[in-house]
Amino acid sequence: MSGVVLVVNAGSSSIKLEVFATDGLARLANLLFEGIGVRPAMRAKDGAGAVLAERMWAEGGPADHRAALAEVTAWLAPFLGERRVVAVGHRVVHGGPEHALPIVVDAAARSALARLVPLAPLHQPHNLAGIDAMAALYPGVPQVACFDTAFHRGHPFVADAFGLPRTLYDEGIRRYGFHGLSYEYISGRLVEVAPEIAAGRVIVAHLGNGASMCAIRQGRSIDSTMGFTAVDGLPMGTRTGQLDPGVMLHLMTARGMDAAALTRLLYNESGLKGLSGLSSDMRDLEAAGTAQAREAIAYFVYRARKELGALTAALGGLDALVFTAGIGENSPTTRAAICAGMEWLGIALDDRANAAGETVISAPGSRVRILRIPTDEERMIASHALALLRARGGP
Ligand code: AMP
Repeated sequence: MSGVVLVVNAGSSSIKLEVFATDGLARLANLLFEGIGVRPAMRAKDGAGAVLAERMWAEGGPADHRAALAEVTAWLAPFLGERRVVAVGHRVVHGGPEHALPIVVDAAARSALARLVPLAPLHQPHNLAGIDAMAALYPGVPQVACFDTAFHRGHPFVADAFGLPRTLYDEGIRRYGFHGLSYEYISGRLVEVAPEIAAGRVIVAHLGNGASMCAIRQGRSIDSTMGFTAVDGLPMGTRTGQLDPGVMLHLMTARGMDAAALTRLLYNESGLKGLSGLSSDMRDLEAAGTAQAREAIAYFVYRARKELGALTAALGGLDALVFTAGIGENSPTTRAAICAGMEWLGIALDDRANAAGETVISAPGSRVRILRIPTDEERMIASHALALLRARGGP
């Protein structure tokens, strides 16, 4: 009997669930449940993207993650038929200082992950709700937690620390870095598409609604633009990115803003949305063409270029630059703007290959190879879950 691995990515009001065959990790289905507690809606697609089912609830629909996942898995049961669920992989934003690898979640691990909630209050509780719900729906099936922080755990002290008193570092106030599952996936793809540079000095620009960049040497992360939380570094759809902490002190003392108001400002009202006054979506800004939309894009590009320089310094040179995620994969103009005038760094874009969205988009003479590689965090999670299961003598 063939088996499947389920991959759950549970956010605040949405849940993504993907189904992979254990055989070759073929993608069989993808379910998106949105509007939990507000206007619940569910859509299921097959591996090729064709819509299999759609459902919306007017009143009295699933009100929490558990109820939403119960709907999702009720739909899934006849779809899976004879196929057995052998493991459920979960995207978990925070693994704390310890976890450099995925783990099977037992009661002790569940409590340890709950203690990390204060480090990622906007994500971790939902990730844990997903684990609890799936453990209840599939008793006995291993629940595997894959951490966004894990890939960065080998950072040297200087990339891990803030210039704060040492006791705070010891208590866990560190630069953890995020988007690790995406970077790990891209690292693996590089071995396939460009083996000669996969072991070199690589910067991956994960430019999506959340955005960060990662410096990778010999397949290992050595630094990243995200820090203690996923709000640091590059500006994002609605998040500030890097900010002088003095601005927060000023807003607290001069404006009386409290933690809740600052959280809203930093996470929901800033970045591309805040600067443009229009939208968090790069497509909207590219289409709008207003002065503020242009300035928002220019700020995003400027910050990415600065981080490119900084991470190149951390790596001691650069062999490859990889663009990935929504903007990185789909916006040739943003890629071109980030690479423009970077010949001093050995970066020369091939305009035609860039416009066509090819895998290699550097000009033939470019010292640095520039690539466009679609990311696939869910496949990374599925492959971790299966590997862990097999290491424990599973299917
Ligand atoms: P993600 O979070 O990886 O799904 O990325 C979402 C971001 O990618 C949004 O800002 C989108 O506007 C952007 N994006 C997706 N497709 C395009 C495109 N064709 N051109 C420009 N930006 C895009």
